[in-house]
Amino acid sequence: MNGRYGVTQLFEELEVERGASVQSITARVSVLLGVDIEVDVLDDEEWKTVPRFVLVDGDRARIALRGSDPRWYRLHVVAHELAHLLCGHSQCAALPMAFGDPGASVASDTVAVEVLRQQEDEADAVSRRLCTFVRTPSLAPAHSVPC
Ligand SMILES: [Zn+2]
Repeated sequence: MNGRYGVTQLFEELEVERGASVQSITARVSVLLGVDIEVDVLDDEEWKTVPRFVLVDGDRARIALRGSDPRWYRLHVVAHELAHLLCGHSQCAALPMAFGDPGASVASDTVAVEVLRQQEDEADAVSRRLCTFVRTPSLAPAHSVPC
């Protein structure tokens, strides 16, 4: 995907409305790309078995979330990984993404590092745009102060 036109066209094809739930956006991405997207909330034991960097395996994508992470952070992870899928990436340098984790260091191959870095930048840009569609009240803390 190159340039602004590509991203705009992509979001038109995605046909999501502002205020959509993250589940409905995930379903739309799945239909658009023809890829099964599995979002798994894992406990800490299962979390240790998540392979690094792997987002797509065959015709399935798996977004693993750590159940003990804050809800807003899990939402961020889903948006980030959906953005990778929309960009056509099959891996994410940050996987598995956990709140408070300094993150995995990437391969020693400098070309691979550069490609992964570019993919992360691209995914971040698309993710920010995707997040503008996500219904925000779910991000508000339960004890939020009334206006
Ligand atoms: Zn990533």
